[in-house]
Amino acid sequence: MSQQRPNTQCIHAGYRPGNGEPRNIPIIQSTTFRYETGEAMGKLFDLEASGYFYTRLQNPTNDSVAAKICALEGGSAAMLTSSGQAANFYAIFNICSCGDHVVSSTAIYGGTYNLFAVTMKRMGIEFTFVEPDCTPEELEAAFRPNTKAVFGETIANPALAVLDFEKFAAAAHAHGVPLIVDNTFATPINCRPFEYGADIVTHSTTKYMDGHANAVGGAIVDSGAFDWTRYPDKFPGLCTPDESYHGVTYTERFGVAGAYITKATVQLMRDFGSVPAPMNSYLLNVGLETLHLRVPRHCANALAVAQYLQKHEKVAWVRYPGLEGDPYHGLAQKYLPNGVCGVVSFGVKGGREAAETFMARLNLASIATHVADAKTCVLHPASTTHRQMNDQELYAAGVSPDLVRFSVGIEDINDILADLEAALAKVNA
Ligand SMILES: *Cc1c(COP(=O)(O)O)cnc(C)c1O
Repeated sequence: MSQQRPNTQCIHAGYRPGNGEPRNIPIIQSTTFRYETGEAMGKLFDLEASGYFYTRLQNPTNDSVAAKICALEGGSAAMLTSSGQAANFYAIFNICSCGDHVVSSTAIYGGTYNLFAVTMKRMGIEFTFVEPDCTPEELEAAFRPNTKAVFGETIANPALAVLDFEKFAAAAHAHGVPLIVDNTFATPINCRPFEYGADIVTHSTTKYMDGHANAVGGAIVDSGAFDWTRYPDKFPGLCTPDESYHGVTYTERFGVAGAYITKATVQLMRDFGSVPAPMNSYLLNVGLETLHLRVPRHCANALAVAQYLQKHEKVAWVRYPGLEGDPYHGLAQKYLPNGVCGVVSFGVKGGREAAETFMARLNLASIATHVADAKTCVLHPASTTHRQMNDQELYAAGVSPDLVRFSVGIEDINDILADLEAALAKVNA
């Protein structure tokens, strides 16, 4: 079959039923799989044959959905995880050990920052954080001899900075390490990071991919383009024998394009077990079938919201990379020509208090610690996720006290704007 277009891949990629088989991806709700002989199963344990034996390692439902995401990103191999957090942890830990180092953009999701700066630091993996707008020289200065990867987000949550792919990929490749990109906010509908030099892509599928706030989940996709065997000293886990599998060398047995995901599956999933429930993968797939329809609507609605807020007298500032004049408009046009995402951030005149009044008066938009699903929702970080911080600390974290994160859903735009209008009218600016 010739290469399908993304709109078709959203519906068909990853699963093709045979004669008389279920048309939907079946939910294989089974922990285990039966074999005729112990010998046949032994071959699976030695990675000498491929097949299912225990769902913690692999499950057919999960694999079909991973294959769809792999096709959408244009990768060589992919796996699902039980959360976006697990995906980013595995993506790094698969090639880093105690004593290694990673360069990361500062403009990343707060949970990822915590994972890197606190939890993985306790494992002996150090991170150097660089501003997304750093000069090539500043980026260069962040590397060390033990650097093993570079990390960034296509569109940062919640900073809405767009990654300068060219700059980050050039630096990573000059140092012989992969660029790992969290593509959650853009989705492959708006950006395919492999086309711009990324080597590994991760997702919190919890957001637009699922799209309906049904199930927490994650994904990792390998481009297959990064040649680990050129740097065997940097990536011994991929290029030298794994004692826990009788001396299998992943790059030899599974090839350059298959080694990374195979290792993450048979080693990290085996040992950490962040496996998604097949039922959740089924729900994720239902979301993926309409991703190509929902994402453009999120983007059109968000742009209309941003333009409306920009003109409103009670609004102090608006950040949306799709807006002309936004600091990331140029990068958005270059890397996200079809649209950005559904999330807009802005400040209400009158600071923290005005933001709280405004939010309490919203009716259609619900207050929720979530973004990127069908229903419009809103979060005031200063009074919720970041409430322990005083105003000075908030500014240092890049979250001003008046910042409102508005996740625009796919309702009728006139109803969303009317809700904003009514709530802003209650604010005494
Ligand atoms: C939400 C999010 C995560 C974490 O994903 P979970 O599915 O909540 O574990 C990681 N990265 C980004 C960009 C996110 O928005």
